[in-house]
Amino acid sequence: MQDKCSFCGKARNKVNLLIAGTDGFICDECASQAHDIVQEEIKNKSNLNLEHIEVKKPIEIKEFLDQYVIGQDSAKKHLAVAVYNHYKRLLHKGNEEDVEIEKSNIIMVGRTGTGKTLLARSIAKMLHIPFTIVDATVLTEAGYVGEDIESILTRLLQAADYDVEAAEKGIVFIDELDKIARKGDNPSITRDVSGEGVQQGLLKLLEGSVVNVPPQGGRKHPDQKMIPVNTKNILFVCGGAFDGIEKKIAARMNSMVVGFNAIQSTEKIDRSDFLQYIAPQDLKSFGLIPEIIGRLPVLTYLEPLDRTALRNILTEPKNAIIRQYIKLFELDGVKLKFNEDVYEYIVDKAIEFSLGARGLRSICEMIMTDLMFEVPSQNKKSITVTKAYAEEKLSKIHSHKLRA
Ligand code: ADP
Repeated sequence: MQDKCSFCGKARNKVNLLIAGTDGFICDECASQAHDIVQEEIKNKSNLNLEHIEVKKPIEIKEFLDQYVIGQDSAKKHLAVAVYNHYKRLLHKGNEEDVEIEKSNIIMVGRTGTGKTLLARSIAKMLHIPFTIVDATVLTEAGYVGEDIESILTRLLQAADYDVEAAEKGIVFIDELDKIARKGDNPSITRDVSGEGVQQGLLKLLEGSVVNVPPQGGRKHPDQKMIPVNTKNILFVCGGAFDGIEKKIAARMNSMVVGFNAIQSTEKIDRSDFLQYIAPQDLKSFGLIPEIIGRLPVLTYLEPLDRTALRNILTEPKNAIIRQYIKLFELDGVKLKFNEDVYEYIVDKAIEFSLGARGLRSICEMIMTDLMFEVPSQNKKSITVTKAYAEEKLSKIHSHKLRA
């Protein structure tokens, strides 16, 4: 008798492959199906058994972030507490009369290139729940070109492999929130595309409501079946540069100094960085509607990066730029070294061209490109990058090319 698959019953000559077991066979098709079932089970288990995951304490979460992000202690602390509390809310099965823990959505304000997205990405690395990053600049009111507010949840659903229950416990990072601020202080009579309407839409998500989400996103698939998603337990973390908000903070603080509630004159104001004094009313002056601000109760800021921070960013984080080059060369069997003054030189240039942390990478690329091109074909065992070499490479480049 011919061997056959013990699962589907097909004979050996009807299948591509028949694998023998102790007292039976399995064909390639059934094996692959079994694999899918196993994967599905593992996924379901990990989603539903949130109780079994080890929740890191806020201090541990911050320590984790420290590996990737330099400085920004205030933002890290707020983020760590919010994520920890988010887990606690999800795990807490209180009864009706119990105190209901409300979620604390976060807003992070800081100049571009100070690490807001990096913080969000780093925290995503340690989470066991669905996480996605969306950019508020693409959001528009329905009817205009661009994406609808619901598309935020499409991304989250995709991150959760369309497991609605898991997505409803996820975290969404909305970048560039300042781009949907109302332009000017007066609500306009004409509809402003990227303004209040979008904020109203976003408010619905932040407040917690059931939203019909197009699973494929966009309006390209008009007949797709909408999936209802409840946003009550989704944590929103927002970020934005809020360019010019320092002026609003300064204006508020100056009026406080002359006003009744004058700050004690003993309390010195650090005029070099007004962002640290940011308060909800400044976001309102900038053009966020009060309802949105109310739904983002945790307000934190990111410091501008100084020399020391930039220097540390080059080499300290787990996947620091310099470490990446060293690794790249190591894969070719070459030991790459940098003289200490090269780092100082790179930082000088980043400051000179006001490029911030984003510029560090482009400057390094300029210095390293020729080496990366030539070294794999040479028989060198080690290379040392000197300041003279770095200067020579950069001198050929015009500064406009250095834009991040
Ligand atoms: P933002 O979102 O605030 O505009 P990003 O997080 O995208 O800025 O930062 C851009 C890049 O600059 C990051 O990918 C990272 O390489 C570097 N960077 C910025 N801030 C930091 C920081 N505090 N620590 C480490 N690297 C940083």
